[in-house]
Formats: sequence, structure tokens, C-alpha cells
Amino acid sequence: MLAKRDVKEADGQGVTCPRCGAYLGPRQPLPHALVKCLKCKLWVDNDGNEKRRA
Ligand SMILES: [Zn+2]
Repeated sequence: MLAKRDVKEADGQGVTCPRCGAYLGPRQPLPHALVKCLKCKLWVDNDGNEKRRA
């Protein structure tokens, strides 16, 4: 099994808002999870890219 299942949250990576740079939280375990920057009202994916809701 090659899946890195035991990687815990604190690997130094988190999701930050691409617009204002605010730290939005740890990366989500689900690839399609989005976090919202409350300042910018912007949805951001795990890679820190802006996502507009369809
Ligand atoms: Zn922001």
C-alpha cells in the first residue's frame, strides 16, 4: 500500500487565500473540498486556487 494514510495535518501545508493571503486552514482530505475566505467571499481549493461556484 502506497497511500500515505498516516500523514497528519501539520505538514506545513495549508490553504491560503490567493487574493488576500489569509490562512484558511489545513488542506482538506477530500480532493474536491473547498474552503471559503470570509474576507473575499472566495472559494479556494486545496491547491490555493480560486474556484468560482458554478
Ligand atoms: Zn481572501
